[in-house]
Amino acid sequence: MDNEKRKALLSLPTPCYVIDEAALISNLEVLRRVEQESGCHVLLAQKAFSAYHVYPLIAKYISGTTASGLFEARLAHEEMGSRQIHVFSPAYKDEEFDELADICDHIVFNSFSQWKRFREKALSHNNVSFGLRINPEYSEIETRIYDPCAEGSRLGITVEGFEENELDGISGLHFHTMCEQGADTLARTLDAVEENFGKYLYNMKWINFGGGHHITREGYDVELLISCIKRIKEKYGLEVYIEPGEAVALNAGYLVCSVLDRTKNGMEIAVVDTSAACHMPDVLEMPYRPYIIGSGMPFELKYTYKLGAPTCLAGDIIGDYSFDEPLSIGDKLIFTDMAIYSMVKNNTFNGMPLPSIFLLDKNGQTQLLKKFGYEDFKSRL
Ligand SMILES: *Cc1c(COP(=O)(O)O)cnc(C)c1O
Repeated sequence: MDNEKRKALLSLPTPCYVIDEAALISNLEVLRRVEQESGCHVLLAQKAFSAYHVYPLIAKYISGTTASGLFEARLAHEEMGSRQIHVFSPAYKDEEFDELADICDHIVFNSFSQWKRFREKALSHNNVSFGLRINPEYSEIETRIYDPCAEGSRLGITVEGFEENELDGISGLHFHTMCEQGADTLARTLDAVEENFGKYLYNMKWINFGGGHHITREGYDVELLISCIKRIKEKYGLEVYIEPGEAVALNAGYLVCSVLDRTKNGMEIAVVDTSAACHMPDVLEMPYRPYIIGSGMPFELKYTYKLGAPTCLAGDIIGDYSFDEPLSIGDKLIFTDMAIYSMVKNNTFNGMPLPSIFLLDKNGQTQLLKKFGYEDFKSRL
């Protein structure tokens, strides 16, 4: 990270998330190239990143968004209304369906029973294209909580459960079986999709390859992605959609925190004004170790600390990190890659304040987008 950027981040009140506009733009440029060179449509999966302040920027580069239900669809409609809105939910509710159909371009059903339940209503909305989520029963995800093809999965229709005489009104198939994976995984997944569902694809208008494509990470094989898309497009005569979440805002955000206290219990401990459980829940859920600028693995650099939150949860530990200099109260630390699955997942457990949200714009200026206070805690209870 260059010094100017670092200085700008360290000047902010903590805790705060910071969206890095320049980094976001560089991701969006890659995604736009995928659209242009493959002829597919790229949709932001809002579940990963819903910072609607930058939706107008995102709208300049990609085709639109996808939603997990009515609220995300509404957010896209209000803040990125000029682009496509797709929605997939494991189950829709009767009372929300018409509103969804008014604002969405594509609605994907998770089962034949959902499709049959809503078919009549659905077909009265002739501005919407309807699809089904399939379960190709092939995934390379090793973390069970993220594996939609795990035994007993509720997500998608298996080949055994596919009712081929109920396809009237269905224009597309959708699968989502990847997580932080490369285009080689996509290629192998497509083999499974074609083997099990290929014969239906000839009669469809579109296919959606879901998310989990780690397109903007270093070393991702963009050319292979483009060739996979083109091959499916041409073979079956389909429009192709992909709906990455992570890849849109990968490495495009930070979480800045301050050291509040230092103690010792067998090792050096630092309490910071951020929480794994509240502000970066994937650290505990996935779990993973977020990177801190200027840090090393435990004992790699001279001073090692266990970093913990000011909550009562014993396990609210971010990890053990080493630094060249000792940490002092008031020092600020910058966690990287904190735009995705952070702001959308945070919570006020233990009465933890929510971090404010800043934009670091492409000229290096910081702007406060959102500040939260006591009322945000109280109003949800
Ligand atoms: C989570 C999800 C995505 C986005 O996944 P990423 O891993 O963030 O790219 C896309 N589509 C569906 C259906 C999802 O559930």
